[in-house]
Amino acid sequence: MLSRGKETSRVGDLSPEEMVITGVQVNYFLVCKTKLWFFSRHATMEQESDLVSLGRLIHDGSYTKSKRGEVKIGRISIDFIVKGDTLIIHEVKKSDKLEKAHKYQLLYYLYYLKRRGIKAKGIIDYPSSRRRVKLELSEEDESEIERILNGVKEIISMENPPKPERKPYCRKCSYFELCWVS
Ligand code: SF4
Repeated sequence: MLSRGKETSRVGDLSPEEMVITGVQVNYFLVCKTKLWFFSRHATMEQESDLVSLGRLIHDGSYTKSKRGEVKIGRISIDFIVKGDTLIIHEVKKSDKLEKAHKYQLLYYLYYLKRRGIKAKGIIDYPSSRRRVKLELSEEDESEIERILNGVKEIISMENPPKPERKPYCRKCSYFELCWVS
C-alpha cells in the first residue's frame, strides 16, 4: 500500500515493498496525466495499442537474443541488463520525441534499485536513430523522482480522470476514443 495514513509520509521514505508505482506510470505522468489515470485504471487496454506493437517490433528486430530479455524486479520491468564492473540497465525506445519521460522512467528504475541496495547506471537506447543516452542518478534527480511519485499517487487516487488536453500524439494513444470521441 502506498498510503501509511500519516500526513508526513513521502514516497521517498517508503520501503521497496511499498513502492508499487511502475516505470510506465512515471513515464505517463510526464507524457499525459489523463493517460496515467486511464492506464492505472484500465491497464489491459495498452496491450492493444499499435504503439506498443511497434515497440515490440523494435525489440525483436534490433537486438540480438543475448542482449534481450526483460528483467522484472518487484514492480519494475527493465528491458535488459548488462553486468560488468557496474550494473548497466537499458531501456529501449522507438523514438526520442518523449525523451524527458524516457529519462525519468529510467531514473526511477535507478532510484528503485538504489533503495534495494543495488547501484546501477542506465542507458536509453534509440535503435531507429542509433542514439544512446547515458544516465546516472544524482541527488537532484532523486528529489525530482520523489516529486513525480507524489504526483503519480495524487493522479491515480482521483475519482475521475484529469481533463484531457490535446497533444500531438493523441491520435496514436490507446485512450484516444475515451478522450475525444463522444
Ligand atoms: S488521447 Fe491525448 S489527452 Fe487522451 S490520454 Fe491519450 S495523450 Fe492524453
